[in-house]
Amino acid sequence: MSALNEGWFTEVFQDQGTAFSLKVKKKLHEEQTEYQKLEIYETETFGNLMVLDGCVMLTGRDNFLYHEMMTHPALFTHRSPRKVVVVGGGDCGTLREVLKHPDIEEAWQVEIDERVTRMSEKYFPELCESNEDPRANFFFGDGIQWIRDADPDSIDLIIIDSTDPVGPAEGLFALDFYRDCMLALREGGIIVQQSESPLLHAETIIKDIHTDMKKAGLDHVVTLPFPQPVYPTGWWSCTMASKENPLHYFREEDAAERPFVTRYYNEAIHNAALAQPQFMRDIFED
Ligand code: SAM
Repeated sequence: MSALNEGWFTEVFQDQGTAFSLKVKKKLHEEQTEYQKLEIYETETFGNLMVLDGCVMLTGRDNFLYHEMMTHPALFTHRSPRKVVVVGGGDCGTLREVLKHPDIEEAWQVEIDERVTRMSEKYFPELCESNEDPRANFFFGDGIQWIRDADPDSIDLIIIDSTDPVGPAEGLFALDFYRDCMLALREGGIIVQQSESPLLHAETIIKDIHTDMKKAGLDHVVTLPFPQPVYPTGWWSCTMASKENPLHYFREEDAAERPFVTRYYNEAIHNAALAQPQFMRDIFED
């Protein structure tokens, strides 16, 4: 649920009795796409803001936290990633981070709603600056079907950069989907999924993700928390899973000497994100 009152965009979290507001200068765009209501605002202090079905997706100011944590921990955990698929992620920010890694040979963005990408190109051009990279490939359609149709043993890293688990994204948080991901992964392959708020969802959505990933044969699963001021509770997470790749070890030296610029991610942040708050230990390490 959202509201725009007296120059503020407000997302109301009815169930939690909380709300998050950003002061806006003006609405830049609004349309009902085939899949969702897409709005873009210019805010006073957070740059441009993208909203889908009333839920904040990203702002120009703080999206680097999310996009860097959805990509670099997994890319530096995999021993030698070459082919990456981003499911969702239509704003192109995740794709941009993936393509910062020089060894990536091929990256796909599989987004159901082409309008998200077209409007990101217009209002978030900095996120789309790798879209012309010859390694970048785009498919506009359902990511669940795309993964089902993928060649077995063909992908090193699948990044599920989706909306919340409702509507077209619901099936991206499901056992059958993880089984299809398993088949599509090469040896040593990794899945990363945006996994909502540790504070709100550790015992529900995140726990279900762990259970279903393990049922699908992805025995190693770890959730990395990170700050994300514009999402509910201001605290978010991604969950990494692999069949045979121990996720608590990563190429720390390569991360420290990464040949590209980041604003949040570094090897120390990676280690810090692997450290589990006690309540998460109690839930996931039992
Ligand atoms: N960072 C955001 C968050 O956590 O709220 C997500 C960003 S990205 C804009 C999410 C994208 O997932 C949306 O553009 C949506 O259209 C896409 N999406 C949802 N379900 C999908 C599906 N089944 N296949 C492909 N893309 C999907």
